[in-house]
Formats: sequence, structure tokens, C-alpha cells
Amino acid sequence: MADDCIFCSIVRGDMPAEIVDEDEHTLAFMDINPWTQGHALVIPRAHSRNLYQVGDDDLHHAATAAKRLAITMRDRLGCDGVNLLNACEPAAWQTVWHFHVHVIPRYENDPLSLPTRPRQAEDDELRAVAGELRG
Ligand code: 5GP
Ligand code: ZN
Repeated sequence: MADDCIFCSIVRGDMPAEIVDEDEHTLAFMDINPWTQGHALVIPRAHSRNLYQVGDDDLHHAATAAKRLAITMRDRLGCDGVNLLNACEPAAWQTVWHFHVHVIPRYENDPLSLPTRPRQAEDDELRAVAGELRG
């Protein structure tokens, strides 16, 4: 637990949250600034800063909890789809420093849209970056 972490405060019960699912390893609660109706966050109970640091077991538990919640959203909210999103570090929009997965129910004709327009890659570009990743 981190003293200065708002999500640890929610785990401890020191800060209110609309909890919608929990198990031994994870908690899920409503995001205070929802992108769509039902937008929730799944967190491991144990503190870690983000994807770089979360333990493999907690990552697994969070993924399982996110799937469970996605199915609940489909069945109880009647959403038409779900996006899972994780932000790791400020360059990727992370603003809260306790690993979390956004579970965002999607509805036909909801107002969300992709923030950037993908472009077709050049063959050389893909070969070069794939080579960097393979090492
Ligand atoms: P990030 O930007 O790190 O990917 O996501 C952090 C999320 O946490 C944001 O969507 C934000 O609305 C949500 N959030 C921030 N503070 C609180 C809080 O105190 N309670 C709840 N329930 N959500 C929060
Ligand atoms: Zn924390």
C-alpha cells in the first residue's frame, strides 16, 4: 500500500468509491469521469505504479476481473461492445500511479472516437521497427 495513492485509499476503504466487483486480488469501481455510461476501473489490491511494475500474477488477476466485468456490462447494461485500456506513463496518458485497467462499455452511436487516424505504414518502416523489437 502507498500512503499517497488514491486507489490504495479506495482499497483500504478510506476513500469512497462505487465498487462493482471484488475478489481476493482485485477491486473494480466506477471511474469518476466516465467516458461512457458504466466506465469502470479494475485494479489489483496490491500497489504498483503501472504496467512496467505490476506483478505477473496481479496482471493476470486484473485481466480475469476485467473480462468478468465486461461480460457483466454486456448482460446488465446491454452494451454493444467493450474497450479495455491501460495507460502506462504520462506519454501514454497515465494520470493515477496505481496500475489499473479501464473497462469501457461501448454503445452503437456513442460519442467516443479514435483520437488519431491510423495511416498505412511503409514496408521499410515496419521491417525496421520489427527488427528493433526482435533485437
Ligand atoms: P489514467 O488517466 O491514469 O489512465 O486513469 C485514471 C482514471 O482514474 C481517470 O479516468 C480518472 O477519471 C479516474 N480517477 C481519478 N481519481 C479518481 C477517484 O478519486 N475516484 C475514482 N473512482 N476515479 C478516479
Ligand atoms: Zn496504490
